[in-house]
Amino acid sequence: MTGLSDSFQRPINYLRISVTDRCNLRCTYCMPDEGVPLAPHNQMLSFEEIRSIATAAASAGITKIRLTGGEPLVRLDIIELVKMLAAIEGIDDLALTTNAILLEKYAVQLKEAGLKRVNISLDSLQKDKFRSITRIGALSEAFAGIRAAHKAGLEPIKINVVAMRGVNDDEIADFAKITIEKSWHVRFIELMPFEGNQAANKWFMPRTEIEQRVRATGELTPVFDQTGHGPARYFKFPNAKGTVGFISSVTEHICMSCNRLRLTADGKLRPCLLSDNEIDLREPLRNGATGDDLKNFIEQAVANKPKGHELVNGSKPKKRNMAQIGG
Ligand code: SAM
Ligand code: SF4
Repeated sequence: MTGLSDSFQRPINYLRISVTDRCNLRCTYCMPDEGVPLAPHNQMLSFEEIRSIATAAASAGITKIRLTGGEPLVRLDIIELVKMLAAIEGIDDLALTTNAILLEKYAVQLKEAGLKRVNISLDSLQKDKFRSITRIGALSEAFAGIRAAHKAGLEPIKINVVAMRGVNDDEIADFAKITIEKSWHVRFIELMPFEGNQAANKWFMPRTEIEQRVRATGELTPVFDQTGHGPARYFKFPNAKGTVGFISSVTEHICMSCNRLRLTADGKLRPCLLSDNEIDLREPLRNGATGDDLKNFIEQAVANKPKGHELVNGSKPKKRNMAQIGG
């Protein structure tokens, strides 16, 4: 296996696969009020199609796959897909990002099917605020899901918190302090602007300010990310069981360490989350493309990976929002 690298010498070994654009929550910062236009089912990749693309990606040098959505656990028979992907030679890390609402039901089956770990999105520790951010979610269900993931051994558990001014910034210290008692890796994420998400401007908080709020609660020492080579920078309170991480996708150019490609639920390969440039794999696949053809498309996507996003210049993705790409 030779491995993939792009025209800026970044090694590309990570594929994020969105398995659905549907979701059981309606987070205010992710979904517009009116919801997102859902693609018809026949435009969604089937499990066989996803497996063909993942197999071609593995043969090109992808070693790590993450399932996302929409909410990946609402896709019917998701456990079957996990089994299919876990069996692909060359894929040594299979993970999933979820809002945890259905994790209590699925954690054990996911683990048995070959899933290694989960990232959980949780933006409030308060019942009423959790409901108002997600519009329809129950915090008790998310907590039950986190407990189930822990019990099933889907670890380490990473908790993603999108920090938002005037929404949950009063909970930044509470989230950080949880890592003293629990072995959670709490990662604070800067809110990214998407077309149709006007709230993003007034809620946005830069990493520097988020970090200041965390540092006000205790001394932090840097730690290396033992759990992968992601974009977060990690720190620890003295004697804490877990860590605190920061992902500054907007204010810092973390793009130079980007190692990923994204596949949308309707079969488009996106070299960059924040660029609308896409390569269609679904139609070639439905017209008989072979594994080698798919591998060529994947190599083309890698070659087309831009150097970095242009958010600071006001350029933001227009075609799709986060729930349609998978974050
Ligand atoms: N439904 C799953 C979940 O919430 O974990 C997976 C899909 S969700 C689109 C993936 C991640 O994107 C979540 O952690 C969510 O918080 C994040 N996200 C969504 N919209 C965002 C935005 N505008 N800026 C930053 N992160 C965002
Ligand atoms: Fe759904 Fe995840 Fe978006 Fe919330 S962040 S609306 S759970 S896709």
